[in-house]
Amino acid sequence: MKTSIATVSISGELPEKLAAIAKAGFDGVEIFENDFLAFDGSPADVGRMVRDHGLEITLFQPFRDFEGMPEPHRTRTFDRAERKFDIMQQLGTDLVLVCSNVSPVSLGGIDRAAADFHELGERAAKRGLKVGYEALAWGKHIFDHRDAWEIVRRADHPNIGLILDSFHTLSRKIDINSIRSIPKEKIFIVQLADAPLIDMDLLYWSRHFRNMPGEGDLAVTAFTSAIAETGYDGYFSLEIFNDQFRGGSAKAIAADGYRSLITLGDRVRRNPNASGLTVADMPGRAPVKAIGFVEFSVDETAATDLIALLRTLGFRNTARHRTKQVTVYSQGDIRLLVNTERAGFANASYAVHGPSAYAVALIVDDAQEAMARAVALGAESFSQPVGAGELEVPAIRGVGGGLIYLLDEKTDLGRIWDIDFVAVANEDDSQPAHLRAIDHIAQTVAYEEMLTWLLFYTSIFETQKTPMVDIIDPAGVVRSQVIENAAGSLRITLNGAENRRTLAGHFIAETFGSGIQHLAFNTDDIFATAAALKRNGFRPLHISPNYYDDVEARFGLEPELSERLKAENILYDRDEHGEFFQLYSGTYGEGFFFEIVERRGYRGYGAANAIFRIAALKKQIRPDGMPVIAREWQKH
Ligand code: MG
Ligand code: MG
Repeated sequence: MKTSIATVSISGELPEKLAAIAKAGFDGVEIFENDFLAFDGSPADVGRMVRDHGLEITLFQPFRDFEGMPEPHRTRTFDRAERKFDIMQQLGTDLVLVCSNVSPVSLGGIDRAAADFHELGERAAKRGLKVGYEALAWGKHIFDHRDAWEIVRRADHPNIGLILDSFHTLSRKIDINSIRSIPKEKIFIVQLADAPLIDMDLLYWSRHFRNMPGEGDLAVTAFTSAIAETGYDGYFSLEIFNDQFRGGSAKAIAADGYRSLITLGDRVRRNPNASGLTVADMPGRAPVKAIGFVEFSVDETAATDLIALLRTLGFRNTARHRTKQVTVYSQGDIRLLVNTERAGFANASYAVHGPSAYAVALIVDDAQEAMARAVALGAESFSQPVGAGELEVPAIRGVGGGLIYLLDEKTDLGRIWDIDFVAVANEDDSQPAHLRAIDHIAQTVAYEEMLTWLLFYTSIFETQKTPMVDIIDPAGVVRSQVIENAAGSLRITLNGAENRRTLAGHFIAETFGSGIQHLAFNTDDIFATAAALKRNGFRPLHISPNYYDDVEARFGLEPELSERLKAENILYDRDEHGEFFQLYSGTYGEGFFFEIVERRGYRGYGAANAIFRIAALKKQIRPDGMPVIAREWQKH
């Protein structure tokens, strides 16, 4: 698969864009005319810069309002074309994109357009250049690739071909089967973009909301499969107009783009009919069976507070690391590690972020295969020295620079608790609280990082995203995106905060970056859990009594049930699959907290309750913005 990206997709000055594109691993780049209109060099300089980065110019664009012009516009249009050809020759590229005419003076008629393209083909051929025609979804006469293909077919010229763009085809819901009948040599280049499904004007949607394949809701995989089935194996080029990307980090957006293209290629490669596409072999997305553990990095003082809280939640110290200052607290299938090492990555993470849940271990089918896929998709691998006889657990860097450890059950990694840890006699007197497993991990990230992490999780692990929802914090909106697998053994909620006055924004600002903001555990009996927590001295987050009047009315609950909920500070929700109960701790550290949930068939995450939960958590935050409990915790 030959990979390319349009310079408009990313931010920065041209030299910075090209460096980022080359570093990300692309083979080629689309040059927009604006790139050198805004740049202090000639087209020849730009061409040299591109080639110095080891890139090829895959396309020069745009050439607008060409076909079907009446005189005297027609003559001037051909003169404009000759000037574009001059620039292309200086740049050192042979393909130009002509997008379908949007001029109000343009005339319709397939044969008129075909005749114009035939003449343009003659002129291009004299210079050894090629012209690709693209149907814009909002073209005046031509807005469907099937009509553009008919024009190209009738132009009947070897230097005239078709350009397919997933956005223009999919935004208009044009049948992609029509692509399968186009001869591969007449497809000059393929442009790819995804987009979230939003009902809005096509032009505005396209210019501001395109995103990388896999980040949106369009059927880009099916579109690419149909193209691959023609035998096409030319460039696949990302053409992403997105306000956020234009304001983001060139390096990060280019890396996301490359990851999205390679992931897409790998998906298409698995379609046996798409034989035209050659894509590097890599293991499939890793199925996650369970969360092996979550590890906290803390100093001794913070550890004392954390362990006290874990005990009230019914966790017991069950093991310790053979050589490191790491203790294990367990309950049901949940293992939480408390790391107080004074050296190594956990300690460095603590120095930067303060107390945090910095690492998650995922149990996959095959840890080495998962690692190979992650690295092939540009994830950063991580390792640090281990003691003699201890396991080297494969790991990659995740959200906020934290770690994702990869465990499996088929190798020694499955015996980590015997090899690296020793069981300890249980001296805790805390009562188990019926917590079974980790229900979900909530990660808070800057809003502009959300798509990056969405792509990270969905490309490496066998997971799906669910539609984004807005959570209303009294101080602003927090976007929430769920990534989960079918079995429910991995559920991650990504919360994107745009403003630091929101609880999520406060968390990011105070912990110097993104990270895990809360951990939710499952119970099969929330009331039994609440009773056990009470015996352990756990102090739940206090929910306003007004909430219970509202919830009783909204769901028609029996007063007896709503009184019970109120007495235990339990939140309630319901969807078409069943009921949901939530119980929260107060904030801990810089806004970290625990949640306990009982799902009676319910599939969501209690988004409707978030505003009440956030309001309650914020009551704990003093006017200086510091959570009350953090005063004791903030010792570093
Ligand atoms: Mg396009
Ligand atoms: Mg939650």
